[in-house]
Amino acid sequence: MRLVSFNGQRIGVLKDRRVVDVTGLAPGDDLQWPPVLMIRTIARFPDLAAKLAEVAKAEEGIPLSEVKLAAPVQWPNKVIAYPTNYDDHITEMRSSGRSDRLGFFLKANSSLCGPADPIVLPEIDGREVHHEAELAIVIGREGRHIAVADALSYVFGYTCLIDVTVRGSQERVMRKSFDTFCPIGPAIVTSDEIPDPDALDISLRVNGELRQNGNTRDMILGVAEMISLASSVSTLQPGDVIATGTPAGVGPLRDGDVVSMSIAGIGELTTHVVQGAGGSNKAFETR
Ligand code: MN
Repeated sequence: MRLVSFNGQRIGVLKDRRVVDVTGLAPGDDLQWPPVLMIRTIARFPDLAAKLAEVAKAEEGIPLSEVKLAAPVQWPNKVIAYPTNYDDHITEMRSSGRSDRLGFFLKANSSLCGPADPIVLPEIDGREVHHEAELAIVIGREGRHIAVADALSYVFGYTCLIDVTVRGSQERVMRKSFDTFCPIGPAIVTSDEIPDPDALDISLRVNGELRQNGNTRDMILGVAEMISLASSVSTLQPGDVIATGTPAGVGPLRDGDVVSMSIAGIGELTTHVVQGAGGSNKAFETR
């Protein structure tokens, strides 16, 4: 099943290029704050799945072009991210770090945005802002100290994620946490449709030009290992997002760019880039 958030927090099932509105079956209302209706739906999914599938099959749905897609999860407990998880990206960054030795970092939840929201570039003198195309894991149920062998049973689904990053020496968390620096979507594809998440083609184009082209089989830590490692530190909650690192080919984004990433079997996330005002601070005065 492919789940989307649209027109705010409304919940939809995506079929072909149409969205079936299933908000009425979700456990809560779509105007609640904080916006956690999808997370509640994920937490209750084992009880809801059959009914959602039935309604999705019976109803025609609305054309995708008539809805505004939002981030499929908007207010997760956390966004975990693994740096330097592909050898070819480590080489291009001349990095000495590897995900299996560094572990993970966090990206501000408030950096999440949806396919319809532009990536807004901050004004920071002399800095590049790069795209990093990543497979995102969405957690389905609570867990701590999860064994690698059990880890995939904690996955709700997968989606596309762009880990937008200001290059520089400052803390990763600050460089990667600007508002709109974490586009995700368009849909969460439930894990039953993705039998092997460690063998997916992943690519990203800017204005039609191929920039990144990899496969998740080249990840240093695989999906199950990343879940297990993260859960050794933090209790994972339904709706938590894990960004799994990026293959080689990262590069600068500029005002007016159209960015499109795709993952085989999961979908295509297309967004655009605009130049914003402000966003620099004293820390960025140091190279
Ligand atoms: Mn990244």
